[in-house]
Amino acid sequence: MQVIIDKNAGFCWGVVRTIEMAEKELNASGKLYSLGEIIHNPVEIERLKEKGLSTISHEELRNAKDAKVLIRAHGEPPSTYEMAKRYGVEIIDATCPVVTKLQSRIRKFYLEGYNVVIFGKKEHPEVIGLVGQCDGNAIVIKSLDEIDKVPLTGKVVLFSQTTMSKDLFYKIKEELEKRVEELVVINPEENVEFVAKDTICRQVSNRDEKLKEFAKSVDVLIFVAGKNSSNGKVLYEVCKAENPRTYFIETPRELNIEWFKDCETVGITGATSTPQWLMEEVKRAIESLCSNFKDEFSKAIAK
Ligand code: SF4
Repeated sequence: MQVIIDKNAGFCWGVVRTIEMAEKELNASGKLYSLGEIIHNPVEIERLKEKGLSTISHEELRNAKDAKVLIRAHGEPPSTYEMAKRYGVEIIDATCPVVTKLQSRIRKFYLEGYNVVIFGKKEHPEVIGLVGQCDGNAIVIKSLDEIDKVPLTGKVVLFSQTTMSKDLFYKIKEELEKRVEELVVINPEENVEFVAKDTICRQVSNRDEKLKEFAKSVDVLIFVAGKNSSNGKVLYEVCKAENPRTYFIETPRELNIEWFKDCETVGITGATSTPQWLMEEVKRAIESLCSNFKDEFSKAIAK
């Protein structure tokens, strides 16, 4: 049986940048706070914890004066920076530049009087940071079912959280365009403007095609990611649609020998927050699991 790691998998450059910034500080001072989990991958968090990283909540920020506080790639709303300043807390800002750009575009449209609509999950840290750019006044929708929340009058601008599904974004855009047209027909005096901005990160959406090809090329696919990784869930669904024998795991302990029955090729891939070393560990675990099984099977036959 052949076990192959997807050559396009691993950290996106935004996450690589965040981890490098954290490790630089940890190597220098041996202590760093991360405001919220640094990435959606508990195994990688554990590795950094051993180097001196602690995760703190917003409530704990006021007491975090004995070390610097890292703002992770998801970014934060302006209120967090104000709070840090008020408490005299030193920040290392690792917000991904893609997110920083999105935040400033949202702010610009908001200040120009647009109704800001964000396709995303309202509890996701990135979205909390984006909504903060509109002083809390953005409308967040995560599916077509919630489209009624969008106002049909006034100027509307649609943005997306960087890790959402591109296909669903364009379905929402199409649906909104239809509604805007209807509104114009019903009341032509109303000046409704619709501007669509696809702000899905290309580190996520450009992976779709290559990921589909990889998923189809193997008998069984193991998708490795943190269970609460938004990007992980989206990419896992892409794989599952191409290859029904796709399994989502967070650690090698979750592997199940049953998955590898009658299989010649196993692929391993992951989200933008899945470290390369973890996929290599999964590869070793699959090889050892299957070879132990083979040995036991041979012994049983020999008896
Ligand atoms: S997925 Fe894109 S936006 Fe998110 S951290 Fe990576 S590079 Fe930045």
